[in-house]
Amino acid sequence: MVIVMSPGATPSDVEAIVEVIGTAGGEAFVSRGVSRTIIGLVGDVARFEALDLRAMAGVADVMRVSTPYKLVSRENHPERSTVRVGGVPIGPGTVTLIAGPCAVETPEQTLQAAEMAKAAGATLLRGGAYKPRTSPYAFQGLGEAGLRILADVREETGLPVVTEVVDAHDVELVASYADMLQVGTRNAQNFALLQAVGASGRPVMLKRGMNATIEEWLMAAEYIAQRGNLDVVLCERGIRTFETATRNTLDVSAVPVAQRLSHLPVIVDPSHSGGRRDLVLPLTRAAVAVGADGVIIDVHPHPEQALCDGPQALVDGDLAELADVMRRFPALLGKTAAGELLTSA
Ligand code: PEP
Ligand code: MN
Repeated sequence: MVIVMSPGATPSDVEAIVEVIGTAGGEAFVSRGVSRTIIGLVGDVARFEALDLRAMAGVADVMRVSTPYKLVSRENHPERSTVRVGGVPIGPGTVTLIAGPCAVETPEQTLQAAEMAKAAGATLLRGGAYKPRTSPYAFQGLGEAGLRILADVREETGLPVVTEVVDAHDVELVASYADMLQVGTRNAQNFALLQAVGASGRPVMLKRGMNATIEEWLMAAEYIAQRGNLDVVLCERGIRTFETATRNTLDVSAVPVAQRLSHLPVIVDPSHSGGRRDLVLPLTRAAVAVGADGVIIDVHPHPEQALCDGPQALVDGDLAELADVMRRFPALLGKTAAGELLTSA
């Protein structure tokens, strides 16, 4: 069982619950988040139910959920959630386009990529300042200098920034520049990092681990939620299979499966899934058609010079088609592209 405390709950409200649970022979695990406290209960559920916990001071919700993930489960939360990033919605009813360079390289390259993203209808800018690279000899990102470039480009274009954090120690710094924190596939089960982003007060985009089952992915999201942060967006980015023609295999079925199991929004990364420019638009169409709440796409003004993932970046010549997909495909499903929603507001 899980108890969600209301934002105004006092430390003594929490103490009282811990005591009552202890007296009932159970254990209470208290997680104090930025906006609210979550208490996990271990022990005899029937005895807890007899306690009428809902009536205790400061309690907002008592959840008895059969799945191992509780706060992100749809069982107790049938409405699908919308997460807002700098005012941009990601959730049911809209399809949000996030685009930008894989890595921030220079101010000019980042600004040009952001302008490409905007031209295609993107409402959020992606770009990595900390890059988790397979090789220690590859470009590792510009670090804080890259975050400053992203903040400048946000200023110039008005696009809120999504950027990856790879180390729990950097969360506060990255959160001071970013509108949304990204946790990448290689860190998808780095529990210290998940807890740190859960305490950051920023929305989080959680990529699926390349070898993670959907349940493991949702358990990773639960780590973030358990720190009081329910502003989590799940991102399917392809999984490892025996296939070598593509970088990863986009698990299209993961989108409706995750949406049925969890109330969190689910987006798709067609760039890192296929790892090939020629597959990005077909996979984007598939993602929107299967019901994804958004897509995150790499674009680059000069991919042949890119320091990271050039072969999968869309170029200027692809933007009209991407914009066309974003205009027509959401409408077929009765959805609005998030870009249109903001322009008509
Ligand atoms: C990225 O989006 O830049 C990235 C590294 O993605 P992933 O973690 O999915 O490989
Ligand atoms: Mn990349």
